[in-house]
Amino acid sequence: MNPIQNNWIDNYCPANGEVYGQIPNSSKDDVEKAYLAAKTAFTSWSQTTLEERSRILIRISELLEANLQGFAEAESKDNGKPIALAKQVDIPRAASNFRFFGNAITQFASESHESVGQDAINFTLRQPIGVVGCISPWNLPLYLFTWKIAPAIAAGNCVVAKPSEITPMTAYLLGEICTEAGLPKGVLNIVHGLGTTAGQAIIEHPDIKAISFTGGTATGAHIAKIAAPMFKKLSLELGGKNPNIIFADCDYDEMLETTVRSSFANQGQICLCGSRIFVENSIYEKFKKDFVAKVKDLKVGHPSETSTNIGALVSKSHLEKVMDYIEIAKTEKGTVICGGNKVHLKDYENGYYLEPTVIEVTSNDCRANQEEIFGPVVTIMPFESEDDVLEMANKVKYGLSATLWTNDLKRTMRMSSQLQAGIVWVNTWMMRDLRTPFGGVKASGVGREGGFEALRFFTEAKNVCIKY
Ligand code: NAD
Repeated sequence: MNPIQNNWIDNYCPANGEVYGQIPNSSKDDVEKAYLAAKTAFTSWSQTTLEERSRILIRISELLEANLQGFAEAESKDNGKPIALAKQVDIPRAASNFRFFGNAITQFASESHESVGQDAINFTLRQPIGVVGCISPWNLPLYLFTWKIAPAIAAGNCVVAKPSEITPMTAYLLGEICTEAGLPKGVLNIVHGLGTTAGQAIIEHPDIKAISFTGGTATGAHIAKIAAPMFKKLSLELGGKNPNIIFADCDYDEMLETTVRSSFANQGQICLCGSRIFVENSIYEKFKKDFVAKVKDLKVGHPSETSTNIGALVSKSHLEKVMDYIEIAKTEKGTVICGGNKVHLKDYENGYYLEPTVIEVTSNDCRANQEEIFGPVVTIMPFESEDDVLEMANKVKYGLSATLWTNDLKRTMRMSSQLQAGIVWVNTWMMRDLRTPFGGVKASGVGREGGFEALRFFTEAKNVCIKY
C-alpha cells in the first residue's frame, strides 16, 4: 500500500517509479458530505427530462473527445500503459460510454402487460434508485469508471463514485469536464481514497442503495458481505482466468496476431485477457514456435514512446506479485519459454517493467493456471480432444470470458453453450458492442452491465396494476 501522511496518499508514476502527486484519503465524513450533495441533487435530476439528460451526457462525451490527448497522457502517466493505447482504447471508450448511454436512455422503455380476461392492465415504472455507489479498479481507469457512472446518471440517479487510489488522475479530470458540460452540482460526486476507508464508507452507507463494483474477487466477496444484509442492489464484476482455446482448423495468422494481443494488451492487465492458452495437439509445436517469436518482438518501453508495445505494470507491489507467480510456476513443473525477467530501461531504472512471459505448463491444476496473475504472463499447454479442453477450460473458479478459435460451426455451438463464462468470443477477442450483456459467472461476479441491462440495474421496477 502507498504511504499515507496526514491523510494524503502518494501517487506514483509507474514508468519511473517516482511520486508525482498526492490524493486525499477521504474519510467517512467526506463520503457523508458527498452523499448529502447527491441526495439534494436527486430531487431535481430524477425529474430532468430524458432529452436534457441525454444532451448533457453527449456533451461530456464530446468534451472527452476534444481533450483526448491530455486525457490519454494523464491515463498513461498514472497507470503505465502506452499513451498510444490510452488514445486508441481507454479514452475513446470512456467517451463512447457517455454517448452510448446518452442515446440509450432515450430508447429505454418500460413494459406493460394486458391481463386478458381479467379487465386489467399492468404497467411497470422504471424509477431511479436514488443515490448509488460506483467503485472501479486501476487497470482501465476512466473506461471502467465511466462505464458505471454514465448509465447511473442517465437513469436519473445521483452518484458517489470512487476511482482506484492507484490511478485517480483521469477521474479528477472527468469532474472538470462534467462541470463544463453542465452536469448539475451534486449529480456526480467523486471521492478519492483507499478502499478500506473511502470505499468502505460507501458500501456501508445505509442510504446508498446500490453498489456497482469492478475489482478483485476477494474485495467483491467483502462488499457482498456488507451490502447483502442491508438489501442493497449489487453488481459485481470480478476477476478472471480466461481460457483461449485454439483448434487446428482456425484461421491461423489471424489467431496468432489476436492471441498476442489477448495475452499482453495493457501489460496483460485486462480482466478479459486470455491467460490460459490451450492449443490442439496437431499444431502445438508450430504454435509454440510462432507465438514465442512474435512475443519476443514486442517492445517493452517507456509508455510515451510510439514504438512501445508493453509499458510499465501499475505498481511496484503488483510487479512483485506477478514475478512471484513466475517463480511459483517454475516450482510446479512450468517452463518459462519466453521472458520472465524484470526490464531495466535506461533512464527509467526504477520503473515497473517486465518482459512478456510465456510459461509452458503440464497441468491445468497448477497455480499459474488456477489463480489470477493479472500481468504480462500467459501459460500454454496442448490438448487432445474437445471434451478434454472443455473440462480444463471450466475447471477453474472463475468464469468471465472465453475465446475459441475454430471454423467448425457445430463445435462452436456445442462449446459456446457449455463454456462456463459470461462472454464467449469466437475467432475474435474483446470485440465489444455496448448493447450486449457484460459480466461473469462463478467467482467472476454477479449481474450484468451493458445496454439496457445496466439501465435495469440502476432502476427499480414498480408494477402498477389497474382494473377497469
Ligand atoms: P481491488 O478489488 O483491489 O480494488 C478495486 C476497487 O475497490 C478500488 O477502487 C479499491 O479502492 C476499492 N476497494 C478496495 N477495498 C474496498 C472496500 N473494503 N470497500 C469498498 N471498496 C474497496 O481491485 P484492483 O486491484 O483495483 O483491480 C484488479 C482486479 O479487478 C482484478 O481482479 C481484475 O480481474 C478485476 N477486474 C474485473 C473486471 C470485470 O469487468 N470483471 C474489469 C477490470 C478489472
